[in-house]
Amino acid sequence: MPRIIADMSDPSSQQQAPAPTRLDLKKDEKLTVVWPDGRTCVYPISMLRSLCPCAHCRELREEHKKRPLGLNVLPGDHSQGPIVVSGAHLVGNYALKIEWSDGHDTGIYSWEYLREICPQTPIGSTGSRT
Ligand SMILES: [Zn+2]
Repeated sequence: MPRIIADMSDPSSQQQAPAPTRLDLKKDEKLTVVWPDGRTCVYPISMLRSLCPCAHCRELREEHKKRPLGLNVLPGDHSQGPIVVSGAHLVGNYALKIEWSDGHDTGIYSWEYLREICPQTPIGSTGSRT
């Protein structure tokens, strides 16, 4: 007998990341996030901008991936200096919206996404404190 397995209802597949206990933003340098589990993630501003999760930037990154050669030609207007954060707002209790000095403001960084792109590898335990 055929059976339809509905795996949409699996609760473990949609667990939400908990909100950070601390958010520290240095607009021209880095974003530091401390999570309830003690993990600390430090995101360089340039990295956050290049990993912007909005639909438009995702599309751009996909385009880059499709190219056979790994040559990335970035839009080369450096006359205005490096891109920095011009503003940031909490979105509900699940995300951080970042506005950039280049006028881009559609990137919403959910806690889940931030944990995913965290440059620091998770530390197995909290036993290494001095
Ligand atoms: Zn974007």
